[in-house]
Amino acid sequence: MDTLLDRFCRYVRIETTADENASSYPSSPGQWELAKLLLAELRAIGLGDATIDAHCIVRATIPPTRPGAPAIAVLAHLDTSPEFTARDVKPIVHRNYAGGDIVLPGDRSKVIRTDESPELARLVGQTLVTSDGTTLLGADDKAGVAVIMTAAAELVARRDILHGPIHIIFTCDEEIGRGVDRLDVRSIDAACAYTFDGESAGAIETETFSADRATVTITGRNIHPGLATGRMVNALRIAGQFVARLPWQRLAPETTSGRDGFLHPYVIEGGVARATLGVLLRSFETADLARQADILRAIAATLAPEHPGCRIDVDVRNQYRNMRDGLAREPRAVAIAEQAIRNVGLTPVFRAIRGGTDGSRLTELGLATPNLFAGMHNFHSPLEYACLEEMELSVRVLVELARLWGSQ
Ligand SMILES: [Zn+2]
Repeated sequence: MDTLLDRFCRYVRIETTADENASSYPSSPGQWELAKLLLAELRAIGLGDATIDAHCIVRATIPPTRPGAPAIAVLAHLDTSPEFTARDVKPIVHRNYAGGDIVLPGDRSKVIRTDESPELARLVGQTLVTSDGTTLLGADDKAGVAVIMTAAAELVARRDILHGPIHIIFTCDEEIGRGVDRLDVRSIDAACAYTFDGESAGAIETETFSADRATVTITGRNIHPGLATGRMVNALRIAGQFVARLPWQRLAPETTSGRDGFLHPYVIEGGVARATLGVLLRSFETADLARQADILRAIAATLAPEHPGCRIDVDVRNQYRNMRDGLAREPRAVAIAEQAIRNVGLTPVFRAIRGGTDGSRLTELGLATPNLFAGMHNFHSPLEYACLEEMELSVRVLVELARLWGSQ
């Protein structure tokens, strides 16, 4: 039998690291490799309609067992974070975890410590999966992929569970913010959707940041430094002053937490003649983004006159919006997920993500898409681990979602 653990270990061995510098879609060839494997596996479990489109998005539909019941969609992403290598991942299965720190054998300086990962205390006796410490594990989001594949095999095999159509969608390049760039939301005929891209058992994420990105362009004037007196306008120096005037003792990622938003200068490029500065604007309250943009414009308005001949442009673009606002349009999306979590014996834990998900964009575009736990922990780090029992509970939640939506 092809178990959840088998699937998970098979998927994490395929390197699908997203590449921010790539202009192709998807950004890395490994995503095609995993997509093709999943296509073959979906067909093997009986989903003959499974396809990969030109953008490497894998789709299949579990046919309804109760005609007329509402359709839902379930999503996970194929790529892994570019923040650490995922080449040659060697998953290590720790059965019956005894508690205490976990030293990773491929790099013994990498230790998953109980004081840094307090949730480990709850997982004593369970089965954990880690990398050997030299790579990411990639549970984000291969755990979600394995959960959906396992639940799909179960739903196809069990005709006794009455449900509507269940659309399966595996997306690419979520980690570099391109997860739904090539996915036409209008093509998803569903009452709502769920991403399986969350942490501990019971977690349901119904809020994300609202996010804008500002590009500050500083135009200076370059001339040979020997002839520069009264003539040079150094865009790089002005960029440094701009960053220094950003609030940081409050309103910065390194000094805020919980429900506080921030302004985050994250990239600076250029030279004397021209410099650009990238700034992320983040808040759980969409209206705050306008106030954050005003801070940037106010700095530009006071700084530019201090450097005659300099020009500072602030261009602010929408990235994604807090899903809370959009979820209100389909209240069943969260209510049924909450019930599904209770039905498998867990207490729903509502969390707000200090970031975005594919679901933030999908919800903004009209498809309510909360994020559910898939049993991953410490993701984007070589200290990442997954808990098999939590992944199994995630499979149970997905089956319950199908059943509960099937009775609508
Ligand atoms: Zn993820």
